[in-house]
This record gives sequence, structure tokens and C-alpha cells, in this order.
Amino acid sequence: MTAMHRMTLAELVGGLSAGDFSSSELTRHFLDRIAAHDAQLNSFITVTEEAAMAAARKADEARAAGNAGPLAGIPLAQKDIFNTKGVRTSCGSRMLDNYIAPYDARVIEGFNDAGAVMLGKTNMDEFAMGSSNETSWYGAVKNPWDTERVPGGSSGGSAAAVAARLAPAATGTDTGGSIRQPAALCGITGLKPTYGRVSRWGMIAFASSLDQAGPMAPSAEDCALLLQAMAGFDERDSTCMNEPVDDYSAGLTQPIDGLKIGLPKEYFTEGLDSAVEARVREALKHYESLGAELVEITLPNSHLSAPAYYVVAPAECSSNLSRFDGVRFGHRCDNPKDLEDMYCRSRGEGFGDEVKRRILVGAYALSAGYYDAYYLKAQQIRRLISNDFAEAFKQVDVIMGPTTPTPAFRLGEKADDPISMYLSDIYTIAVNLAGLPGMSVPVGTVDDLPVGLHIVGNYWSEARLLNIAHRLQMDTDWHKQIPEAFA
Ligand code: GLN
Repeated sequence: MTAMHRMTLAELVGGLSAGDFSSSELTRHFLDRIAAHDAQLNSFITVTEEAAMAAARKADEARAAGNAGPLAGIPLAQKDIFNTKGVRTSCGSRMLDNYIAPYDARVIEGFNDAGAVMLGKTNMDEFAMGSSNETSWYGAVKNPWDTERVPGGSSGGSAAAVAARLAPAATGTDTGGSIRQPAALCGITGLKPTYGRVSRWGMIAFASSLDQAGPMAPSAEDCALLLQAMAGFDERDSTCMNEPVDDYSAGLTQPIDGLKIGLPKEYFTEGLDSAVEARVREALKHYESLGAELVEITLPNSHLSAPAYYVVAPAECSSNLSRFDGVRFGHRCDNPKDLEDMYCRSRGEGFGDEVKRRILVGAYALSAGYYDAYYLKAQQIRRLISNDFAEAFKQVDVIMGPTTPTPAFRLGEKADDPISMYLSDIYTIAVNLAGLPGMSVPVGTVDDLPVGLHIVGNYWSEARLLNIAHRLQMDTDWHKQIPEAFA
């Protein structure tokens, strides 16, 4: 039998139901891998070993009794942005280092109902602000393909843990690219659903109009299984949409001949590494051989997406993060002189530099006299960007391009240059501004570093995106590759 960590999630589900191994064995195997390898990667903030083994035994009992859920006994890693009852939920911040969540997020409830087992909570950029996982209070995460390089961010812990197979799959959240960019840099598959597809209830807010949770796993087939447990209406999130949930696994193998793929001319320009472009073009050729048609399109306002995002996201974060005041929960400074000293020092000590930078920019953009010039303007640009996509989807079914302009960069390389860091999400950000679904799929390597293909669809087209990604994965095995040190 193939070692359990070399199997995809879909294969593990099959193995459990065939009785090839129990959830207790499977969970033990991954806990042992975390213990053996995570010191090199720092992908977990918290490992919930005892609870995981107890949940695995419960799943084995449920299976024996004939009432196993769809993910019964499958171990998963959860990004530390989701509230998980009785478990520290730090959001990568010193501010919440001592915060034990009193309830489960909707996403966690979904996995519990499906019978999944939580291995622990993954490392992330502080409050999901970053593209390299270097802003975490718990230290940087290393890319398993080259531990001197970043795994991407903010869901860098999830991406690294899955790439090194310390967990079969994980969750991420994506405000401007935080599922797709780390998935690309670590060589796994990640999906950011349509805004409103997955409830944000219990997911710590960064920028509420952009945040969306989604799956990160080796394959598209795996992502389909995970999204099934995550998607659906939830009245506790007023932005969660009451749209029917598709069966995400049903149409995976459907032929894609006749598919019209739009290639935005703005995405294939100087900023793009030529070797990354070559891998993307090879994948596009493969789609042509499957009967798809490539069409050049234009997204004329793409150059405005990063500037608009870096007004909207900080503005919303300055409001969302005002709740961390050292009073009700979270970090509180020692011996405050008075109330103001308590607020100032608690926030000053609790937040890191990147979070402070965003709060300052956001509060400035929202202040009287500047609101019209910045926040309102950014919202208007956001509409232009949505219109560009709407026009494009009149001509094509999906849009493809590179997920990131370069492969994984070195730790520290961009740490002192926020603008160059912000540009690593240059292709992903517009998708969040428009609320569309997008995926990253591994399509090869450059100097042994993974490259991701970005696939963007129209609203609610998750099943179609998964189908398109799966068709490529039926013929290629980039998604099955594991870095040698973790094989
Ligand atoms: N890298 C982007 C940022 O720093 C996106 C982060 C995210 O998607 N959470 O804001």
C-alpha cells in the first residue's frame, strides 16, 4: 500500500471506507509527521493531538456503526483565523495569543458535521495581512520546496503543511490572494469561492467585503470534497448568499471541449517572469489539446486593482480591528496608568508593524476630508474592475493567467519593501474586488520551485472551475509531487 501521506484526500476517503486503515492510524501517522518535520517548517501554531486522537476514535466508531459522514475520520489542518471551540485561536497575532475561542466558526462546524478530525491550527500572517507569512507573531513559515524561501501568505502555514504532507488538506482564507498565492508557491491546489458562498461567521475579519474562506489541498478533486463541507447559506453572516450548493464532485470529469479561455493581455507583460510564463503557456496548450479555445481579452482597469485594494482593505481592517482594545479579550498591557495608556499600550504591544501600518492607512483614508478622495474613489474603481470582468465573461467562459509573477522568493527579500510585497498579489487582487471565484493549480516548476495557473470564473462557477482544473490533473501529476525532504 502507498504510504498514507502520499495519497490524495480523495484516495484517503476511499481507503477509510474500504477499511484499508482506520482514522486512528491515519491521524497518528500525520501527527507523527508533524512531530518529525514541523520544526523545519513552522507551519503549525497549535497541534491538538489529544483532541485529534479522540475525534479519530469517534469517527472509527461511527464508521463501524454505519453512520459515517462524508469526511469521517479525515485529518485536516485549520488556518488559525477560524474560531475553534476550546482551542487557542491566535490569528497569528500576539494580540490573541491568550485567546481560547468559546465557539466554532461555521466552517469548523461544517467539517465537524462531515466527521473530519482537526490536527491543529496553522500559522499565518498576522490577521491575514501579508504575502510571505513573515508577519506572524509566531515566526515565519518556510517553503518545503526550499526552506530558505517563503511559502507565500497569508495562508502560508496551510500551504506548507499540505505541500509537505503534514496534513492531507487544509483551509485558507483569501482577501487579496491568500489562498491562491501560497497554493501557487507551494505547488498545491487552492480555491477562493465566490464572495458569499462560504459563511464568514466565526472567521476573524480582516476586510469584510473581500474575505472568503476556501479549501487548499493536493488536487481539485480534494478541493471539491472540502468545499462541499464549507459551502452553504448561514443566516449568521448577512453577506452569505442563499444560492443552491452544487455537487462539486459530480461533474469533475466532464469534457471541456468548446471551453473559451480568456487571456488578459495585461497579465502577460514585463512584470511576469519568463520561465513562469512558459509553464503557464504549456498548460494553456494542454487545454487547447483538450478542445478549448484561447481568446485574447482585455481587463483595462487591472493596473488600478492594487491601489484600490490597498485603500479598501486597510479601511475595513482599521474598523474591524478596533475591537481589539485590551478590554474584553486579547492582550492587555501590564500596570496601565489610566484608560488611554491601557488602550495605547495594549494595542501598541499586541499588534505587529504590518498591522499597525494598515490601521494607520485605513484610519487616514476614512477620516473626514479624505473619505471622498480615497475610500469613495477606491469603491468607484472597484465597480470599474467588476465591469471589466462582466464584459470579459460575455466573450469567454473562464479567464486564465499566472497566479503570481514569480516563483517563491527568499525569506527577508521583500520584508522591508511593502510595495514590492504587495505586488506579489498583482494577479489575484482584482478577483476579490469583484467577488469572483478563482483557483490556483500547479502546472510545473522553475528551478524546482512550483508555478501556479490562475483560473477565474464567473459568479457561482466553482463546480466548473473544479472540473477544468481536474481535467488538467487527469493528464498531469504536478499536484502529486512532494518535496524530496518530506517524501
Ligand atoms: N497579501 C494581501 C494582503 O496583504 C492579501 C492577503 C489576504 O488575502 N489575506 O493584504
